[in-house]
Amino acid sequence: MSQQTPFSTWNNRFLPTDVEGFDSLAELALDLRWSWNHATDEVWRQLDPALWELTQNPWVVLQTVSRDKLQRALANPAFSKNVDDLLQTRHQEATAPAWFQQRYPQSPLKCVAYFSMEFMLSEALPIYSGGLGNVAGDQLKAASDLGVPVVAVGLLYQQGYFRQVIDKDGAQQALYPYNDPGQLPIAPLRHPNGEWLRLEIVLPGYSVWLRAWEVQVGSVKLYLLDSNDAANFPAHRGITSELYGGGPELRLKQEMLLGIGGWRLLDALGIQPEVCHLNEGHAAFAILERARTFMNETGQPFQVALAVTRSGNLFTTHTAVTAGFDRFAPALIEQYLGRYAQDKLGITVHDLLALGRQNPNDSSESFNMAYLAIRGSGAVNGVSRLHGQVSRRIFTPLFPHWPEDEVPIGHVTNGVHMPSWDSAPADDLWTGACGKERWLGTTENLGQDIRRVCDTTLWQFRTAASKSLVEYARQRLSQQLIVSDDTPEAINGAKHLFSPNALTLGFARRFATYKRPNLLLHDRDRLLRILTNPQHPVQLIIAGKAHPADQGGQALIQEWVRFIRQPEMRPHVIFLSDYDMLLTEHLVQGVDVWINTPRRPWEACGTSGMKVLVNGGINLSELDGWWAEAYNPEVGWALGDGQEHGEDPAWDAVEANALYDLLEQEVIPEFYTRNDSGIPTAWIKRMRESMAQLTPRFSATHSVREYIEQHYLPAATAYRDRTANNGEVGKQIVDWQHTLQDKWALLRFGEIKVVSDAQGHTFTVEVFFGSLDPKSVRVELYANGVNGGNRSRQEMKRGQPLTTGNGYIFNTQVSATRPATEYTVRIIPYCDGVAIPLEDTRILWQR
Ligand SMILES: *Cc1c(COP(=O)(O)O)cnc(C)c1O
Repeated sequence: MSQQTPFSTWNNRFLPTDVEGFDSLAELALDLRWSWNHATDEVWRQLDPALWELTQNPWVVLQTVSRDKLQRALANPAFSKNVDDLLQTRHQEATAPAWFQQRYPQSPLKCVAYFSMEFMLSEALPIYSGGLGNVAGDQLKAASDLGVPVVAVGLLYQQGYFRQVIDKDGAQQALYPYNDPGQLPIAPLRHPNGEWLRLEIVLPGYSVWLRAWEVQVGSVKLYLLDSNDAANFPAHRGITSELYGGGPELRLKQEMLLGIGGWRLLDALGIQPEVCHLNEGHAAFAILERARTFMNETGQPFQVALAVTRSGNLFTTHTAVTAGFDRFAPALIEQYLGRYAQDKLGITVHDLLALGRQNPNDSSESFNMAYLAIRGSGAVNGVSRLHGQVSRRIFTPLFPHWPEDEVPIGHVTNGVHMPSWDSAPADDLWTGACGKERWLGTTENLGQDIRRVCDTTLWQFRTAASKSLVEYARQRLSQQLIVSDDTPEAINGAKHLFSPNALTLGFARRFATYKRPNLLLHDRDRLLRILTNPQHPVQLIIAGKAHPADQGGQALIQEWVRFIRQPEMRPHVIFLSDYDMLLTEHLVQGVDVWINTPRRPWEACGTSGMKVLVNGGINLSELDGWWAEAYNPEVGWALGDGQEHGEDPAWDAVEANALYDLLEQEVIPEFYTRNDSGIPTAWIKRMRESMAQLTPRFSATHSVREYIEQHYLPAATAYRDRTANNGEVGKQIVDWQHTLQDKWALLRFGEIKVVSDAQGHTFTVEVFFGSLDPKSVRVELYANGVNGGNRSRQEMKRGQPLTTGNGYIFNTQVSATRPATEYTVRIIPYCDGVAIPLEDTRILWQR
């Protein structure tokens, strides 16, 4: 693809493209960098202050402004100099080496393709639903900041996720406003000759044409596919209309378009990533299409192509319950992918289904996208330390006879893109303490720098933040009440609600039952007493959407709304409808305490609590997800005993009471205990520790660096090795696996002996290989970890050959700290560079 300015991909006859300077403005408007770096805000405000305030979407402002106004603005030397300067900065930033180029000048990593079903980048591009999109969006932004070579692939939804209206009775109504692509900050992706890039994807019996769009996210590009092409049957134009809408068949079609269509798009653009990062299993069909592309290029069969390409795939799993994975009925897979398997991959439907099944021969078992993702990746990770552990447990069935803690799933804890979630005053505060470049590289020293900010400055910063939030909440709530046709008294009341000096608690998230959004409502009288204490008033802001199909979640919203409508509650609790990025920003920038009450271990990571860190908010949360690894008593408050209790209502009651206790005995007194200057010194101390210890660790800068170091770089190297010489290494791996397949059953243990003395235990064992080459396996001495200690795993050395049956003696020595009876011997596959047990799950235990 030739490098074009974003504008040149637009040829809209309705735009004043002939006005000199329009081009420059379009270039600025179409770069989503403005959504976190507010440098261009003033430009759009000058063009149309009212529309800018309402939409925060420069592309809408630019398309709406009249030709006269545009010409007048551009004729103003100060305005046009500002635009020129901004463009120049943009071009400089695009060419200057960023952290990644400086740190890894000779990197084998030239391109990561990042696939995700949703991206939360800006309110102006509503193609997200929640946490998963948040992680994707924040990682892209951080990749741009760090200069990581990433291209992302997603779908453009005509309707995006629903907007929420709450009626007077507390019932949620879902609205689906149309995303007019012309108003979104995206551009059609065109061939160099100007033709719009379109892809043809064959579904059973018909073709679907996909259009492609380009989104500029700083230095990173996101490509979006959509099926709303005039060449499609009306029914197929809607395939990409709704995020997480419809039934399994629609979901399967969407996932085929994302995975298969997405990989083909990269191919059509001449992009050849070494690494393909699957953000959740939705896009796992990319694994198949990537292998198919390699087959076409090299003539290798599917198995070899998969062995080669999987080394460059990384699968990040995001759910903590097996029910969270996408599964499809075998008949549906056969209907939609049967021909593809046979004609394109050269495998049977049975073989294809086997990739998504625990038991390949169980014809009733459905096709699990997460299983496909694991079978097709070179590494797998969960999204917090605890979630790594939970994922190892969930996926044990795929690794029979392996100890749970050796199930090959690690973790990279999510982080949030701090520049997107900090307030302008927080940005100033951190810039003063840590400099402007603080999120653009390593973050190790930020903690000590921010710790130097004095109590007075921190407290002034917080009181100003509370004031802003209260003003915003008043205005937003009164708007909301007008829309839902509430009484004039209620609307007027909203305008005077809350106090900037009271303690503000925030609770906002998806209303799903496992998040227990009604835990605070467990004992209503006690909550009422807490909120209405005249000496120590507390105010509470609630927000959240429930999936339109989730009746349970909607009932929880209704419970809150009905509770709030009681006259004695109205001054103390509000429910702000239509939780979205913009509302999150205001909440996380202003609340004093962010509350989170999921049932452990079902919050895989959680990110909203991380967004308050940079703004000086403090977390009070269940020891689940990220908080289980972040919490210590200096930085916030914890709920729960660190154990799992399922859905036990008795335990819910225990935790609800613990939550009230914490509020009454710790949180509220600490906030209201002031020194002579009116400063809550213990509170400030906690807030400072939260900012210093946690903000750098839970920034997306940090997690993207972990992805690079733990995964992208090793994957790029492995992929290059396996692709060399037409996939020679891949072919060797497949041959090795075939041999194991034939001969593994011949492996036998003979006599095992142990001699113990002061030096330790010396183990010797006889192993018989039949016709198997001993070099194709490893013999290990193994002991389980006990009492939280590490397992012991040691390779045994091959010694003398035995006289019969291709046998050898193996031996090794371990220290005598553990009794010899705790050890056992096992045999596992071995092939240089192959991940065991991820790529071959065989294992033979001596006992
Ligand atoms: C941050 C965010 C989320 C994710 O929050 P969790 O607490 O991790 O569930 C979801 N929706 C919106 C709008 C957000 O800003």
